[in-house]
Amino acid sequence: MTEKKVYADFMEWLSQSWYGLPESEELLPLIKARFSEEEASFLTGFPYRRTPIAELAELKKMEEKELTEKLDALALKGLLWKDHKKGSLRYGLNDLFFSVYRSGFWPGREDEYTATMAPPANRYLTNGALDNFAMAENKGLRTLPIRETIMPNTTVKPYEDVVKLLDAFEYYTVSACPCRFRKQLDPDSETSKKPLEVCLHFDELGHYIVENNLGREITREETEQILKKAANAGLVHGLSNWQDKPDTICNCDKDHCFMFEAYHDLNHHKSLDRSNFEVETHPSTCKGCGLCVKRCPMEALKLTEYPDADQNLNKKGLTPLLTEDCCIGCGVCVVKCPTQSLILKEKREEDRTDPPQNALDWTLRYLEAAKSGKKLLR
Ligand code: SF4
Ligand code: SF4
Ligand code: SF4
Repeated sequence: MTEKKVYADFMEWLSQSWYGLPESEELLPLIKARFSEEEASFLTGFPYRRTPIAELAELKKMEEKELTEKLDALALKGLLWKDHKKGSLRYGLNDLFFSVYRSGFWPGREDEYTATMAPPANRYLTNGALDNFAMAENKGLRTLPIRETIMPNTTVKPYEDVVKLLDAFEYYTVSACPCRFRKQLDPDSETSKKPLEVCLHFDELGHYIVENNLGREITREETEQILKKAANAGLVHGLSNWQDKPDTICNCDKDHCFMFEAYHDLNHHKSLDRSNFEVETHPSTCKGCGLCVKRCPMEALKLTEYPDADQNLNKKGLTPLLTEDCCIGCGVCVVKCPTQSLILKEKREEDRTDPPQNALDWTLRYLEAAKSGKKLLR
């Protein structure tokens, strides 16, 4: 079979995952950078479902021992899922979004293989990869407010309370942020100065990551320190966008995160889904420094004239004005305000939303939206 046919068949197979495979001239170079011809041929028809090794051995007509060695090597590259469930070793093919935009860069390796993948991955991201996400009402992540920025005595739902979330997890891991690392490896992209090792995963996904050298185990205390460092650096916490068993907390920045690229550069109607909070400003104590405006990843704040400003405190006579529709309720502006003139307050009842119930619910909504073909743009 020719190389062209091998990759064509493989792309056809990849297009059958939940993610689909938006077409683009950038796609083939990316797939060739991520999968060798031999891997593409071997993985065509490989089940997405987590499948016991005995079943796979039959499918591939190979001895279990020899096949296990082969599959382990592919899991170490982040191309296959691997777990031990129901008394059996299982593997499943990761969709392209996972194997490029997540596992491809989690290890933070500066080797030639990863560096070759970065430029086409960046180009495909703004030229096809997010086409189906444009139609999704619920994005992959939901804003998780910085806990200390929420107005005291507020009842916070479990999926918005980082302390309760961390209490519920049993296993904590960290990897490199794939978005920032991908840009760092690409000579055509700007490098970020924000912390890199801040991509947090938990429990089942965490075990997969550590067992396959895609990240490292950390303690709960280290997890809290990373979240604090991220918040101080102006990164937005983003939680898997479902209520039962979320497994990821991303720490995203305006200039490198694909969620914000989708909003600012591709005009998607959202970046991350909004939390049930929004910022409240207190102009009487504001000194008009503009730090909150610079830190806001959504450009939701603008400095405007404030004639009632106390001239001793606020020499510029300026204070931030909020565009409510743009605020995702992250608290990034609040946490560093030198005069505590900002706070996160709960939104009106009628404006509050809940995330989808579980990962399956999220996926079904995504598939329904992708089928509609209707892009939700600003
Ligand atoms: S979504 Fe955010 S944290 Fe996750 S990889 Fe992208 S920038 Fe990093
Ligand atoms: S950071 Fe605080 S003090 Fe500075 S402009 Fe914003 S609200 Fe005012
Ligand atoms: S104004 Fe901006 S930084 Fe502040 S909470 Fe809203 S989106 Fe976040």
